[in-house]
Amino acid sequence: MKTLFAVLLGVTLLGTACNDPVTDITSDDLTLNQIKGLALEPLNEGETAALLFMREEEKLARDVYTYLFDKWSVKSFQNISNSEQTHMDAVLVLIDKYELEDPAADNIFGTFQNSDLQRLYDELTDTGSASMEAALKVGAAIEEIDIIDLQQALDISVDNQDITIVFENLMKGSRNHLRAFVSNLSTLGITYEPQYLTQDDYNAIINSQKETGGSWW
Ligand code: MN
Ligand code: MN
Repeated sequence: MKTLFAVLLGVTLLGTACNDPVTDITSDDLTLNQIKGLALEPLNEGETAALLFMREEEKLARDVYTYLFDKWSVKSFQNISNSEQTHMDAVLVLIDKYELEDPAADNIFGTFQNSDLQRLYDELTDTGSASMEAALKVGAAIEEIDIIDLQQALDISVDNQDITIVFENLMKGSRNHLRAFVSNLSTLGITYEPQYLTQDDYNAIINSQKETGGSWW
């Protein structure tokens, strides 16, 4: 009886571990094709809104960095804008999978359907035109905002596995980008102060290593 119980318990625990999708598959190595292949779960209103918003927020990052690279020729802006393109592509995979209408379908540089993002783009390109220092601070600010928006979506509305994995990987990308901009500023002799994240959250990111392993983020 005791043995049987132990066996049953063992099987149950093993079963639990195997069926826990997020712990099993939050792998950095998942390709976008594998993400496309994960189960199609019901999409709630918050998830719909978050997907549409994040598609354009990643575009905002890409377009601002492209603009600022043209202006200042700082290599990080070019590298990071390429990374933002892969982030846009990842969100598009989900938009297509859930048959939503892509707000960035026209892909017009510097143009956004969401009026808050349009205003932010206009402000940030203006601010970042003042100096290289201002431009790098704009970069860091965008990454802070990105991290906060992604975390908020994950905390409040996102429960589908595919969206969770994509958003967590987008956040890893953003943490790396934030570290890169802060490091560029530090090379110029400037200590960056967080503008949106709490000091604790900011310190935790800056005091940890660059995150590696992703095939697309
Ligand atoms: Mn991004
Ligand atoms: Mn970024």
